Amino acid sequence: MNRISHWIDGKVVESTSGNSAPVFDPATGEQTGAVDLASVGEVDAAVAAARAAFPAWRSASLSKRAEVMFRLRELVDANRKEIASLLTAEHGKVLSDSLGEVARGLENIEYACGIPQLIKGDYSEQAASGIDVYSIRQPLGVVAGITPFNFPAMVPMWMFANALACGNTFVLKPSEKDPSVNMFVAELLAQAGLPAGCFNIVQGDKVAVDRLLEHDDIAAVSFVGSTPIAKYIYETGTRNGKRVQALGGAKNHMLVLADADIDMAADAAVSAGYGSAGERCMAISVVLADDSVADELVAKIADRIPSVKVGPGNEPDSEMGPLITAEHRDRVRGYVDGATDAGATVVVDGREGVPSEGYFLNPTLLDGVRPGMACYDDEIFGPVLSVMRVSGYQEGIDTINASPYANGTAVFTRDGGAARQFQFDVQVGMVGVNVPVPVPVSYYSFGGWKASLFGDTHMYGPEGVNFYTQGKVVTSRWPDPATSTVDLGFPETR
Ligand code: NAD
Repeated sequence: MNRISHWIDGKVVESTSGNSAPVFDPATGEQTGAVDLASVGEVDAAVAAARAAFPAWRSASLSKRAEVMFRLRELVDANRKEIASLLTAEHGKVLSDSLGEVARGLENIEYACGIPQLIKGDYSEQAASGIDVYSIRQPLGVVAGITPFNFPAMVPMWMFANALACGNTFVLKPSEKDPSVNMFVAELLAQAGLPAGCFNIVQGDKVAVDRLLEHDDIAAVSFVGSTPIAKYIYETGTRNGKRVQALGGAKNHMLVLADADIDMAADAAVSAGYGSAGERCMAISVVLADDSVADELVAKIADRIPSVKVGPGNEPDSEMGPLITAEHRDRVRGYVDGATDAGATVVVDGREGVPSEGYFLNPTLLDGVRPGMACYDDEIFGPVLSVMRVSGYQEGIDTINASPYANGTAVFTRDGGAARQFQFDVQVGMVGVNVPVPVPVSYYSFGGWKASLFGDTHMYGPEGVNFYTQGKVVTSRWPDPATSTVDLGFPETR
């Protein structure tokens, strides 16, 4: 059985806590590994290694830090398949999806290669007579990343690429459900020339997270996961004086207006609803269908579902894999079990015909879903697509804006004016116009609003660089000392 341990100060460190958690292959249900769960002392050791590495790393030149990122970029690129197969083995997502995840993670490393340009400050000559003012951005120190199971490779890359390039050192606490992939990435970081101690991994659960949140040497925490935990991380971390960005759960709506191309909308709903078995924070979970096209749209989505190939992620023709655990599969099934009693219609029943082993649930389509039903109100995080019928644009936008979640959304229309109005009206952080999964490219920033993000800063891109640095403004003058006088007035600039 594979044992997955910590990565501290440039090497694998086995835990002595005596605690571990099982790791499964979700396609078979077999236990394939056991992940160590860190004790408080092991977290402290990782933070101490990161703290010791910080002075030299923050002093490394920008070109040196960029060089490490360029080398890492090449190594991740060369090892895409290896990373993807590690990811599929523990997460269950299909290989093509894992490769997509690696590709989108890689874009964040590529962005961080531009750090000499990204971290530039401003300079104002002659802000007052003989006085120049300039701004610089400096790293924070040791920063922590706490990440979810659903993007075990990409989400850490959202964080550590910018954090390290900015001159911080990093402690990652990955999900205990699929921990292996980051141990491989840690080796690549070492091969890329990152000094020991700059990047550390503590495997663990709440014990490790709580220690990171209270540790005096952790300056900032980036978190991605479910809303209740995101709120807890934000409240606890900020109470302990840390800078925190905590991205939470989602319930993403796709509004299909009467003039939309219905085949295109059906293709998009199936792709965005069932891709990665719905275990994406940017998955579409609710289709808001204009009444006049709803019957046609539901029929076209239902027509497409039987051709989605459900199977183990490592089989080349699989398009949708299993869910992460048996417990999560049962929870998702529970929403389908309760849908009819709640007043919805099960149009396609994914509980039927599932493979006998592994944590599978087939694509499921619900119609007649309304707010107040559990299948509408809760984040299901599985292959269950709900259709809610709306009278038109206004009911659609009002429904989206009434949701407590506000991660992603999309409008499908051929009317540019309606799309422009949607972009203006909608209270959601990431918006797609005929794009169902509008994950921003790495040179923009990622983040939702409301219960989908706690904190002020979105993740990666320019906001990521801001999050991992603090600004300093320097006012300087070099007058002739002979002109120096005592002047108790408040300095004026004119
Ligand atoms: P999760 O909240 O259960 O776990 C996330 C991390 O928090 C893990 O590292 C876990 O070990 C830790 N954790 C769990 N319970 C904890 C506790 N009680 N105290 C301290 N730490 C705890 O999330 P998950 O199930 O791994 O991931 C799925 C969730 O993440 C979904 O809700 C999804 O929408 C969300 N997500 C959001 C985004 C986004 O960008 N907004 C992206 C990906 C996933």
